[in-house]
Amino acid sequence: MTSQPVTGQPAGRSAKIKAIGLLSGGLDSTLAARLLLEQGIEVQGLHYSTGFCMNDHRRAMGRPDEDPRRMRSEGLRAGGDLGVPIEVLDAGEAYMKMVLNPKHGYGKRANPCIDCRIFMIHGAAEYMREHGGDFVFTGEVLGQRPMSQHLQALNLIEKECGIAGLLLRPLSAKHLPPTVPEERGWVDRERLLAIEGRSRKEQMAWSDKWGISDYPQPSGGCCYLADENFARRFHDVRLHARPETIKRDEMILLKVGRHFRLSPSVKIIVARDESENRFLERFLDGRWCFEALGTGSPLTLVEGEPDEPLRLLIASITARYSDRRGEPLVEVAARRGAVEQTLLVPPVADETLQAYRL
Ligand code: SF4
Repeated sequence: MTSQPVTGQPAGRSAKIKAIGLLSGGLDSTLAARLLLEQGIEVQGLHYSTGFCMNDHRRAMGRPDEDPRRMRSEGLRAGGDLGVPIEVLDAGEAYMKMVLNPKHGYGKRANPCIDCRIFMIHGAAEYMREHGGDFVFTGEVLGQRPMSQHLQALNLIEKECGIAGLLLRPLSAKHLPPTVPEERGWVDRERLLAIEGRSRKEQMAWSDKWGISDYPQPSGGCCYLADENFARRFHDVRLHARPETIKRDEMILLKVGRHFRLSPSVKIIVARDESENRFLERFLDGRWCFEALGTGSPLTLVEGEPDEPLRLLIASITARYSDRRGEPLVEVAARRGAVEQTLLVPPVADETLQAYRL
């Protein structure tokens, strides 16, 4: 391990060692931060807003009956519980680009976990250089996740982030070579842990010991990219467009509604309730939208340029999900900007619909 000077502490900084940590709010990152706090180390938490967090999306939807616990920012909540400052960083377009074209590929769904970890740890390293700090830590556990937490992946992540020796994983530290903070005595390696594998027994024991009980369930449960339904829609988009032409809006829209692929260049999104209607209204600009007239109706948003036969099909799908789905013919408005057309169509049969569903 390197013994070169690796951080330049800004003049006037306190002598206290400062660690910059990625805090998702999950149990592992919370325990990692707590292990360092127990050693008197100052902790600055970072929490990334990726655009794919389910809690952030629920908050944006603002459904009145939603459980407030499922809408909160877990990173901020964990920071409050630990008494450490948290900075929320917008992962922005760069993250979106990475998600569409990850160097190390996808996991089982649409989750580019290795590239995601590299992105975030790289960002933490930059934050450390800009704002001062001595090392970066994460709650990663050796062998816990098949894609991003086996030994080779942990080594790769550290190497690609360009902070060799300055990335501490307190929960698995004793299985890994000593880092600079350990070698220099900033952190007592003996008081770090040797957790390995998927069992969470040891984490539970530590959370009991420290009275940590408020945390979300593990295993990527907050990330749309690891969700099966989302992944199906995501890979459909990638199949039908070159990554560089896919817009951020298209990714955001994958999170709402029922999705149907009608042709290689046309797909639709049918809202499932009032909140989704309101959400889709924000994306009307430049897009066709359909709505049954004189009745409760979902908004149907169109991606692409539908010809006349497809417009009829979209109208009959919209009619199928309207309150007049039991009637033989339903009037449906098709609008784009100032252009409006009224179509009289039968609601589509469910068997026909299945062929298009994503
Ligand atoms: S599950 Fe999502 S947030 Fe977590 S590492 Fe994978 S891509 Fe990133």
